[in-house]
Amino acid sequence: MTKLFYGLIFILFISLAQAQDCPILPTPVVYTTQTGSLNFSNNLAVDLTNLDQNLKAQLIALADTYHQLKIESGQDKSLIIFKKLENVKQDSYSINVNESIIISYSSDRSCYYAFHSLMQMIEKINANEFSISKSFVKDYPSYQWRGLHLDVARHFFSVEEVKQFIDQMAIYKFNVFHWHLTDDQGWRIEIKKYPKLTSIGAWRDSTVENHFTTAPRTYKKERYGGFYTQLEIKAIVAYAQERYITVVPEIEMPGHARAALAAYPMYSCTGIQQEVPGLWGIFDDIFCAKEESIVFLQDILSEVIPLFPGEFIHVGGDEAPKTRWHDCEKCQAIMKEQKLKDEHELQSYFIQRMDKYLLSNGKKLIGWDEILEGGLSPNAAVMSWRGFDGGIEAANQEHQVVMSPGSHCYFDHYQGKGSEEPLAIGGFTPLEKVYEFQPIPRGLDSFKASYILGGQANLWTEYIPDFNQLMYMTYPRAIALSQALWCEDLPKYELFEKTLMNKHLDLLTANKINYSPTFLKPNFSFTRTITGIDFKVKSKSNEEQFEFKDRSDSSLNVNFKGSYDLPINRTRGTKKLTYSVNSFTTGIQKNIAITNNPCLGVPVVYLTKPSNQYNNGDLTLVDGQFGARPWKGNEWIGFDTSVVVIEIDLTKKQRIDSLQVSFLKDENSWIHLPCTIEFQDLKTKKGKGIGAAPNFYDERQVLYIGKKVQKFTITIKTLDQIPQGKPGAGSHPWLFIDEISIKNKL
Ligand SMILES: [Zn+2]
Repeated sequence: MTKLFYGLIFILFISLAQAQDCPILPTPVVYTTQTGSLNFSNNLAVDLTNLDQNLKAQLIALADTYHQLKIESGQDKSLIIFKKLENVKQDSYSINVNESIIISYSSDRSCYYAFHSLMQMIEKINANEFSISKSFVKDYPSYQWRGLHLDVARHFFSVEEVKQFIDQMAIYKFNVFHWHLTDDQGWRIEIKKYPKLTSIGAWRDSTVENHFTTAPRTYKKERYGGFYTQLEIKAIVAYAQERYITVVPEIEMPGHARAALAAYPMYSCTGIQQEVPGLWGIFDDIFCAKEESIVFLQDILSEVIPLFPGEFIHVGGDEAPKTRWHDCEKCQAIMKEQKLKDEHELQSYFIQRMDKYLLSNGKKLIGWDEILEGGLSPNAAVMSWRGFDGGIEAANQEHQVVMSPGSHCYFDHYQGKGSEEPLAIGGFTPLEKVYEFQPIPRGLDSFKASYILGGQANLWTEYIPDFNQLMYMTYPRAIALSQALWCEDLPKYELFEKTLMNKHLDLLTANKINYSPTFLKPNFSFTRTITGIDFKVKSKSNEEQFEFKDRSDSSLNVNFKGSYDLPINRTRGTKKLTYSVNSFTTGIQKNIAITNNPCLGVPVVYLTKPSNQYNNGDLTLVDGQFGARPWKGNEWIGFDTSVVVIEIDLTKKQRIDSLQVSFLKDENSWIHLPCTIEFQDLKTKKGKGIGAAPNFYDERQVLYIGKKVQKFTITIKTLDQIPQGKPGAGSHPWLFIDEISIKNKL
């Protein structure tokens, strides 16, 4: 979709904007304006005498990149005056614009933040004339960990690209860059003692094409890889430091180790030589827990530690299948010797060894929330990705926590529902959802909440092959995240969106950032009514012109501006409806298919709670729509329990010929079809059931009912565990349902 079309929408929006809106993102704690403005030319006289060398250089560069302003040292008639304050809140600053600009700050870091804010306040009148409203800003961050992560293992990004990623972070006052340097598909950091880690481990011979769950799989047979020398790493760390960003390196262990094991197979359990895989997913071969492997990894850490001056080293710890440890004599011997009751405790032992090692070298260990399993190591901090629960548990145990739940912080998820979105791993995390992120979950007491350092978004790059795609997935969602992590008092989403559109999209464009325009697209939503559902089309602009056609009923063909509502009443029979919406303004076309039936919009009660990660509300199952492929998180309800009970109320007694429950089968994502489905009429308590593995091959399961019913339950049982030979064997499978519908002849 061309940016030109969206340009039109911005213009429509800008006309609605009000002058006093705060132009700074993340939104400062205080922003007030007075009448009048301060005007100046493109040569800024600034007294820089009391600033340190780096800060001086940064300010001169920022003035140039934001507005091509030239800073001239001017002690006598300085337009900007810097004042360092003692005994004020950490990283706080204020900006007072009147006859001159006074920046007061508590630290070099906060002076740098103030300068970004100031640059965002400046309006360009023409090439030589600039203006800034007379105003006052007071500001400081809410959280001390405001992070973005980047996976350079699945796809590699050059030194220049990583620097650009860091530059962009700095604009939005992020202060932690979590650099995911090793994974199954590539080892990206030079380790002098083990040169094969990069000569072998940094290169793969093929890369899977399409979504990795697509069958049959095909591969691009091309050598792919790259790595950073220690010199390059030092340069990037210094570059980040100059922008007041700390780099946290991640060396994955004991799982996601195939690239390292391709170079040094003797540190696996089997010792078998395997290649660096070109496939995504979770692999059974992990580092063996034997002493030699622990020493190997500690040797690696001994070279990593001096490169990164920050407090934390990330050791991964996620997604480590225990199959190999279970079958390994050496692993089993350690378990016996250390009196460990299972392989989870063995992982805990493994992580504790790293914790002690890092601590003795002046560093702190952080890992993904799986490091809670089998007992959390005494000094470890936890990065909570599988929802908020791991973070809550760690905070309750008085360990430091960074919240990074998949629901809000996984920027490899889709950000739009449209089929024009580029291929992504799955999930659904639109801009609004990121904006709702709160690192401190409700209900956590204030003492325990003090262990929550902040939050972070993760950029896993299986489906992010290049820098343009990386920016598309990161922006503008990272700006919404910066709001959640910075603002003490979060402005309404609509206000944020307005500032984004009026000011910051231009800034992204000026910095050549390929941001996603998805949030500007019209929104298609469904809400429940007493008699069915309401289908609403809503543009960001009241001026956007549309055509709405009911293709199943040629008489409905409406032209409208801005928004449109179509109530759809449920029918006694089953009928397919198809609609098309066409925007004349942006050229977007959208087709929607709805299967109207007696279940459409009826009340649904989840007697079994869906997983927080895949709970999209109770209308999802009865909205008449089937999930599309590749599946996105927004169209499915996911359960991780063995039994799922759902209650449906048809609101009046009526005949059901048959009932269809529609599931997702994606065994590579550990999503399996169920074993049995039972129907029970809640009035007569009479039931009907089908299934028992291995009869279930079909995603759409039909139960013949043939009687009148009002309220009923559906009870679904899953496999106890994923069968041997399938990905995730031995773990509990996921159950995904997209729709429950009644099939009645009209
Ligand atoms: Zn082993």
